[in-house]
Amino acid sequence: MATPINNLSLNEIYVDKLPGVGPQKKEYLAELGIHTVEDLLGYFPFRYEDYQVTDLATAEHESKVTVLGEIYGATSMRWYGKQRSRLFARIQVAGAFVSVVWFNQAYLKEKLQAGTKILVTGKWDRHKLEILADKTVLGEKEQQKRIGQLEPIYSINSHIKMYWLRNLIYQAFVTYGKEIAENLPEELVSKYRLATRAKAMYKYHFPKNVSEGMVARRRLVYEELFLYELQLMWLRHTSRTEAKGIERELDRVRIDQWIAALPYPLTGAQQRVVEEILVDMEKPVQMNRLVQGDVGSGKTVVAAIALYANYLAGYQGALMVPTEILAEQHADSLQSLLSPYGVKVVSLTGNMTARNRRDTLAEIQMGLADIVVGTHALIQEGVHYRQLGLAITDEQHRFGVKQRATLREKGLHPDILSMTATPIPRTLAITAFGEMDVSTIDEMPAGREPISTYWVKKDAFPRVLEFVQKECQSGRQAYVICPLIQESEKLDLQNAQELFEQLTVELSPLRVGLLHGKMNATEKEEVMRAFSDNEVQILVSTTVVEVGVNVPNATAIVIYDADRFGLAQLHQLRGRVGRGGGASSCILVADPKSETGVERMRVMTETTDGFVISQRDLEIRGPGDFLGVKQSGLPHFRVADLEQDLKVLEVARHDAMEMVERKDFLQNPEFSRLVEYLQEKNIQVITFD
Ligand code: ADP
Ligand code: MG
Repeated sequence: MATPINNLSLNEIYVDKLPGVGPQKKEYLAELGIHTVEDLLGYFPFRYEDYQVTDLATAEHESKVTVLGEIYGATSMRWYGKQRSRLFARIQVAGAFVSVVWFNQAYLKEKLQAGTKILVTGKWDRHKLEILADKTVLGEKEQQKRIGQLEPIYSINSHIKMYWLRNLIYQAFVTYGKEIAENLPEELVSKYRLATRAKAMYKYHFPKNVSEGMVARRRLVYEELFLYELQLMWLRHTSRTEAKGIERELDRVRIDQWIAALPYPLTGAQQRVVEEILVDMEKPVQMNRLVQGDVGSGKTVVAAIALYANYLAGYQGALMVPTEILAEQHADSLQSLLSPYGVKVVSLTGNMTARNRRDTLAEIQMGLADIVVGTHALIQEGVHYRQLGLAITDEQHRFGVKQRATLREKGLHPDILSMTATPIPRTLAITAFGEMDVSTIDEMPAGREPISTYWVKKDAFPRVLEFVQKECQSGRQAYVICPLIQESEKLDLQNAQELFEQLTVELSPLRVGLLHGKMNATEKEEVMRAFSDNEVQILVSTTVVEVGVNVPNATAIVIYDADRFGLAQLHQLRGRVGRGGGASSCILVADPKSETGVERMRVMTETTDGFVISQRDLEIRGPGDFLGVKQSGLPHFRVADLEQDLKVLEVARHDAMEMVERKDFLQNPEFSRLVEYLQEKNIQVITFD
């Protein structure tokens, strides 16, 4: 019996072992990422050409068609110099006559006699009733074979010809196909009745028909997603069993008392998420949880509960936020929620006086400060915690992976909680953040005021201002957002400074404030305070108010040049209103120049559901762009498609989780290939934060 050769060895056989692959071709193949036989066998087509016979009556102009016809009369030929020729024929197809033109295929002339049956594929000119021939098949047997066949189309480069590559792949299967080993455990293969790996790989290249291709695809998608999830689940599993997190007993009685004393009952979703967090905190392993909840779903109070529980257990907590304004505001709300219970909340921002900062740092180091709120100043050099037990990042997508890692290193193994209002579509949540646990606050507090969203053209702006004026005269407040601070020569966009001056005059005696990123922290704070206290009724601002800002009396938000913003950002901005001050409005002022701009305006007027919006955003922008390519951590799948194969992904994830948790995972020979795979992948390099 021959010794079995596993995939590893196919991965060790270089393509120049195949006939017809010399040093030059080897190099060209390498440009496509094909080095070994294994690479070649897994170099899948991105689509198929099919040769189903087309019904010309319904075929579109310039579409690709395939017809089976009979040459009618004599063909004619014209030469252009020695090389170039044009062959013309009339053919009869299903009782109709169409013409066919071949360029530079003079050899066909003598084969095409009156009455010859031809199968021809080419581009259809509906007006001239003419096919510009691309492929021609003669002989009935050949034709029957070709009709309905799927021809794999590969991505190639200028040195590699399609038919050559196709043939090479075929040859590779002939020589090595039998050595493609199964890499999934038998129990999964039979559970889902998957095709074997060898068969699926072959059939995905060379399916006889669509259904064969589908069967092959199903297997390959499952395999790809399962192996991917296996890595994530293994990471998650090992970090849970090995990391020495903080094990603490939580004072459930006092936590419940605190919750009961809130002015409102928690929503069911909040209760559920709080419980998930508290259970994590009690476990000896480090928590790594992402809480996602739409704007206004009440994440702050959830964070406060976790921080309070952590405090009661004797640890310090840190809350990191992306902007100074938000830091101030979170510090304020935590203060009012927690200081009556003896918790000392301090804030640490980039713009403190040296003295203030020194004092605060000392308080943190001595453990006098229980909760520290700040921007990333929180993780700078020189900040030492006495005993950091819980680190929370709000709007976590704004933090770099590195920043979060640094924060984690500040304490022993603080539990990590990340909160985001940008709902990540489930597909992405479990791929990009696959090793994190995800909690979702998918319910809004009762009695939320509805927000009506309108989209108007710029020439309607005066009427928008009238509306804002009315709103403010009745005691409400409004935001007016625009993309730029100062005039830009290049862009014809409204800027905050100018708009501020205009509104100050036009809306007098209402008071207008200005807020933008170039102001220093004290100035910003002062404007925000004035707006919070309704000393200023209208706040003209750039997107610095985007995240988290909470002024419930504001019931209108006008977003100028709204098409300049992404959907997630617009949704965030809109979330500044509808926070308890009454029915609210969001008015998008925009003359979008692009399709997608129009589309974004439409999506905004059609829904206020952040999950729907993020799903649409994902569709419009694509996954990489959606998360910001750099830190998206999105894998590149060869066969699987995250949109289409979401269900399989979920199943694969579940199976992978069960697999790594099996007691015999590392020992059972049945799984040795999976273990090898993990080793081969050297998975410790894939660390998500
Ligand atoms: P976000 O999830 O956007 O951070 P916040 O935490 O700022 O939302 O909460 C928005 C508002 O909802 C706050 O004014 C908060 O006091 C209020 N809130 C939070 N939870 C509830 C609840 N269960 N019932 C009523 N109001 C709530
Ligand atoms: Mg928030």
